[in-house]
Amino acid sequence: MSDKIKDANIEQENSVDKKVFSKKKKLIILIVSAVLCVAIGGGALLWYLLSPKQPPQTSNAVKDNVIHKIDGTLHKVNVSDSNVKFVDNGESEYKIYVDLSDESLKASINKSASFVKDQICNSSGVELAIDTELPSDFSKNTYAIVYGFRRAFEDLGLSMPAEDIATTGYYIKTIGNLVFIEANGSDGYRMGGLAFLREVIGYDMISEDCVVYSREATTMPNMEIVERPDFDYRQIQNYYTGVESYGMGMHTHTDLWIPINGWDMHNSLYYIPPETYKNKYPEWYRSDFEQPCYTAHGNKVAYEALVETVFRVVVQRMEECPTIENISFTAMDGTGQDSCWCDTCNEYKTLYGTPAAACIYFMNDLNKMVQAYIQNNCPGRTLNLVFFAYHDSEPAPVERVKYIDGSGNLIWADPIVDENGNYIPLKRYARDEKGHFIKDANGNYVYETDEQGNYVYLTCDEHVYPWLAPIYSKFTSSFYEDVNKTYAQNVDLWYTVSSNVYLWIYGTNFKYYLFPYNNWSSSVETYRYLRGSGVKYIWSQAQERNQATAFTDLKDYIDSKFFFDVNSDYDKVLSDYFDNYYLDASKQMRDLFNLIQARSEYLEETVSTISGGIYDEIGEAELWPRVLLENMLNLIDEAYKSVEKYKYSNPQLYENLVKRIKQESIFPRYVICMYYGDYYANIQEMRANFRDDWNELGFSVHREHEGDMQSVFTNDWGL
Ligand SMILES: [Zn+2]
Repeated sequence: MSDKIKDANIEQENSVDKKVFSKKKKLIILIVSAVLCVAIGGGALLWYLLSPKQPPQTSNAVKDNVIHKIDGTLHKVNVSDSNVKFVDNGESEYKIYVDLSDESLKASINKSASFVKDQICNSSGVELAIDTELPSDFSKNTYAIVYGFRRAFEDLGLSMPAEDIATTGYYIKTIGNLVFIEANGSDGYRMGGLAFLREVIGYDMISEDCVVYSREATTMPNMEIVERPDFDYRQIQNYYTGVESYGMGMHTHTDLWIPINGWDMHNSLYYIPPETYKNKYPEWYRSDFEQPCYTAHGNKVAYEALVETVFRVVVQRMEECPTIENISFTAMDGTGQDSCWCDTCNEYKTLYGTPAAACIYFMNDLNKMVQAYIQNNCPGRTLNLVFFAYHDSEPAPVERVKYIDGSGNLIWADPIVDENGNYIPLKRYARDEKGHFIKDANGNYVYETDEQGNYVYLTCDEHVYPWLAPIYSKFTSSFYEDVNKTYAQNVDLWYTVSSNVYLWIYGTNFKYYLFPYNNWSSSVETYRYLRGSGVKYIWSQAQERNQATAFTDLKDYIDSKFFFDVNSDYDKVLSDYFDNYYLDASKQMRDLFNLIQARSEYLEETVSTISGGIYDEIGEAELWPRVLLENMLNLIDEAYKSVEKYKYSNPQLYENLVKRIKQESIFPRYVICMYYGDYYANIQEMRANFRDDWNELGFSVHREHEGDMQSVFTNDWGL
């Protein structure tokens, strides 16, 4: 046993003494992580196995390690070698032809063609010309990469595939020397261009300064590709550049959402600023004026004025943002409870079990006006109106077991199913011409019926969708696991009342940005669960405004692969990332990653207060023994050494590699500088170096709120 291992054991014992470890975990996992550590991290990690304080094992928290396969995705990729020359001796006969006849698509086609041209130039040195008109002798023999030109495509006997590629999918088809890239929407053309690059030059983007070209572009392969991203809306989670979100096939906020006063969410009061309207229409607001009241306190005149006013803002903004498909009307942030507590809102809540009910009524009324406007003024335009299913509005309004609790409160409990095993939407209650709920002679509410006498159900109309944000989930476990059962089920419950559910999940610990949040593999399974439920929009909110450490950037790469194809191979995605991003330092960085993951898993299994929540206390000193951190820094040092060979042969590459490794050094160095200063005679020098690297790498904060590091440097570290 080396000194290091002994030290580690001592540290581990100390930390056990300091902290009450509750053992809830299972043998399988510990053995798996221990074997993994030994296999990849070397003997220094044996202490996971050898620690005398290993708690007794139980079997009731076994992680669900099943790899789920999702049916019904669309990735038909038929590619084979051909003899058609593409790049020969640094030259190419090929030209790119862009069809700019459709106003709504031309910007996207132009951008995709330019991107393809740039990437081919970067990979092979060939500059392809871009032309807007097909040559007069256009035929199968023409060396052409063609965007659009559907007529020429059909004249060659080709037709679009029968599969539903929607506006985000594409069809790539070679015939003779020709390559057609066909789509029905802007995103389809972008994704088609990226798929073309993937097959023809082995393109893969990890970051703006790390693009892989794994195929020689000597020939143009035979291609017949019909694909559609598994999620149509794929919002990027961490800090990104415009090139990265584009080139990784992801979306930014501004790609997807029409902002109101700069806010795509938490924006409802920006439609109806209280300072403008509160005197005339106090009914539009909750009594503290911090949230809207979706029922206008039951005042019909005020309610209609509210819908009309919000409608006018929607129309103005949709005209200003002609290509964006989503707009939200969502609760303001940071006001405690989100919903209104007026008598009318409380009546809706009592009748339907959730404040979401009043919101659905409001959004449906708003949507009727918006969709009628679209029909009359811009037919074909898609605009989805999205509301929050968040905090007290999270549970879906469906039939549930109901009971009165000890305090006399009506409790809406577990959902119930019909004879076919389906969840059941709620019947709507009838309202009079003033919008008030009707009671019969006995004082009971009566159900609403349509002209045929059928019950009417409380459901979201088409284009009205909930934005479900299950903030209390444990994202280090997947949605297939018991710990998240309620939240996972709630996705499916919402699908009972809406044809689409937008998912806002979370990908970091918001109190500890610089510490690892162990959701790399669990997120993949959650994405599979959500795709299986039918979800089309997904965003894992994380560190959007921060440069990040602790393998946070890897999560964006994972998202870029699994949002596109949830059935991707996780091990391959990880190998591709480490091998291509760190090159000769791949092994050391993978070892570091495995070490971080194993430690995180161990903490979750052994520390009662750590369960995978996004505000868990994962940053306490005793959780991160100094020797473990030193082991991490040893791997970092070895990583630096292994890329030194590029220092003079390829200085730019060397600089990039050093930057990437240094970014991952931030986590262990931060913990040492924070907690272990007493062990190092030169701690002030170490802290000053940390500060310089922090600034140079462009980091900003160490947590979501009040996380400015500059004050830590000055006040806490004495720099
Ligand atoms: Zn209200």
